[in-house]
Amino acid sequence: MSIKENLKNIKSKLPEHVTLVAVSKTKPVKDLMEAYNAGQRIFGENKIQEMAEKYEEMPKDIEWHMIGHVQRNKVKYMAGFVSLIHGVDNFKLLKEINKQAKKRERVINCLFQIKIASEDSKFGMSANDASEIIKSQEFSELENIKVTGVMGMATFTDDEHQIKKEFNHLKSTFETLKQFDTNNCKLQIISMGMSGDYPLAIDCGSNMIRVGSSIFGHRIYQN
Ligand SMILES: *Cc1c(COP(=O)(O)O)cnc(C)c1O
Repeated sequence: MSIKENLKNIKSKLPEHVTLVAVSKTKPVKDLMEAYNAGQRIFGENKIQEMAEKYEEMPKDIEWHMIGHVQRNKVKYMAGFVSLIHGVDNFKLLKEINKQAKKRERVINCLFQIKIASEDSKFGMSANDASEIIKSQEFSELENIKVTGVMGMATFTDDEHQIKKEFNHLKSTFETLKQFDTNNCKLQIISMGMSGDYPLAIDCGSNMIRVGSSIFGHRIYQN
């Protein structure tokens, strides 16, 4: 099936309140343009340099989401155009995003990545870390970022029961953090669910899914 048909299939089954991020990492601009021409405007990438190159080449009405792990020293390469950073997992990173956004007179929307998986390899902070950040004086002074939600990745397993437990954990973290409603913290987004688990994620309360291989086909990594 073509990218266009894949997109149409997925979108026809999505509830209206769920936003689809088309994860286009490793894929050529030609493939992204096929999705664009089928109406897709939100793309997710996990490498800043690759995202910046695609941003340069592609139409300017696209929303670019950084879904991967972010190194502080690379924030500057996306600060001018990124529309949502999903993987904010520490305060130092958030402060760097604020600094780079300020230079460009922008406000950058961010999600706190919460560690919900049992694997050590997954990044993220605890619900407690997140609330400590939000409650701090230093956080309240960051005028060029806005925390708009949470993101999480479930353990890589076929155990649906475990995945569901992890998704429920993210949903409850969201509900807990939502009570903080300040100028730069307004939680609305729960980014969870990928090709293999997005229907379950939506059942558990996700309103933003990050889908790659079900749209673009499997990825070939060259290292
Ligand atoms: C690659 C990636 C996805 C998409 O994965 P698929 O299984 O191809 O849908 C979603 N989220 C993150 C953080 C990713 O790195």
